[in-house]
Amino acid sequence: MRPNDALQQLKFRDPVRARALRDALERLVWRADHAPVSVMHVCGSHEQAIAKFGLRAAFPRDLQVIMGPGCPVCVTDVPEVDEAVALAKQGVRIASYGDMLRVPGTSQSLADAKADGAQVDVVYSVTQAVDLARDTDEELVFFASGFETTAVATAAVLLDDPPDNFSVLSAHKYIPPVMEIVAEMPETKIEGFLAAGHAATITGSAVFEKFVERHGLPVVVAGFEPLDVLAGLVRLLELINAGEAKVENAYPRCVTREGNAHAQELLWRVFRPTGGRWRGIAHVPNGNLRLRDEFAHYDTRKRFTIDASALWSYAPPKLVQQCQCGDIMAGIASPSDCALFGNECTPDTPVGACMVSAEGTCKIWHQYGGHPDLSSMKRGVA
Ligand code: SF4
Repeated sequence: MRPNDALQQLKFRDPVRARALRDALERLVWRADHAPVSVMHVCGSHEQAIAKFGLRAAFPRDLQVIMGPGCPVCVTDVPEVDEAVALAKQGVRIASYGDMLRVPGTSQSLADAKADGAQVDVVYSVTQAVDLARDTDEELVFFASGFETTAVATAAVLLDDPPDNFSVLSAHKYIPPVMEIVAEMPETKIEGFLAAGHAATITGSAVFEKFVERHGLPVVVAGFEPLDVLAGLVRLLELINAGEAKVENAYPRCVTREGNAHAQELLWRVFRPTGGRWRGIAHVPNGNLRLRDEFAHYDTRKRFTIDASALWSYAPPKLVQQCQCGDIMAGIASPSDCALFGNECTPDTPVGACMVSAEGTCKIWHQYGGHPDLSSMKRGVA
């Protein structure tokens, strides 16, 4: 990190300003009937920032900041994992991000298939998967996960003439439609959303305007430093209290209303939105990103006959049936509501997808604590 970058970062971690924002939250959350205010963020990076900097311990007791379906690995649905596992067991070489290897399918994960002898490579980027394909004559399938931010990188390599033996099994997801699902859930108490600054850097803050119109809930785009999160929450509570349903950009140093037009062009040239299930959530209309017909040659689903039926004659173990990942991602439960959390289910022995990924709520809470007690600390924001 360059010295200037470090100074910039410290600027957004200033404890004096953090305390002032925390005090503002305390004032704004007050209601005569002491009813709590529930807001949701839809981003593993926000949960990491909240947990890593101990912000949840600094939030007023009546402010509930809930993580929704913001972990792309966690929402990759079981049949999508089954497709990758079935291909691997058919002898096709698979490359994917490390977290994706441990996500459970119906009966096996990619890590299980690898242990059984399948060729499964961990890559850190889609370009690394393309490099693997260039180094071999065999078919190389990239099992692609991630939201629209990551999908842009996949789109870029497909537009850059990858080798003929390379194809993409897309499990990419598109965030805005799932916010509609969460907002419409009958149990939901969400009064506003904190939107992910990195995704909005691509899509622009305007992408949330139709959602706000339809649901009458405010959306504030926020970044990932402690002051970004706190300032975003302050603005969100101000809008909630004023009854103003609008989109506000609290991350102007990166996000514009229009977003990155070039990245959007790459994304929509290669992908089309289509309906599909998100693990533990529901069928999400337009929530899945699939390759357009012009890219059929690079579409694993068009290139191979994938028969995953052999994986289905299987009853999930009792522990898996107790997993509450779905309720956690829908924002109606937290990891501490799950009896397995930190007991049978840990990052070394994950029962559900939320404990696998670095962006999964259960893993983040296990790593940092969900409601850390900072009362004994002399420094920091508490
Ligand atoms: Fe599922 Fe484990 Fe989280 Fe419980 S702690 S909800 S079993 S991932």
